[in-house]
Amino acid sequence: MDKNKSSRNNPNDKNLDDKNKKLVKRPQKRKVCLYCADKSMVSNDIDYKDIMKLKKYLTEKGKIHPRRTSGTCAKHQRELTVAIKRARIMALLPFKAE
Ligand SMILES: [Zn+2]
Repeated sequence: MDKNKSSRNNPNDKNLDDKNKKLVKRPQKRKVCLYCADKSMVSNDIDYKDIMKLKKYLTEKGKIHPRRTSGTCAKHQRELTVAIKRARIMALLPFKAE
């Protein structure tokens, strides 16, 4: 009799389930555009002199955060880039931080 090999029933199904559980991502909280949420803004223009607000949208190196990280809407992101670029020319913000 050559049938010495025992055919085990490996519980592979359970392992697969565990792997799938790790891959499942939690639905992240939707980021809200701060300028849309701010109802106190009378004019829709973003002030380039408001450095404290603009600094939030810059990385450590002085780059502008992309929309996917900052959560700003398309309209305000466009205005934000203009405002930041104006502030850079006025030397209020750095073009490139070291
Ligand atoms: Zn907005």
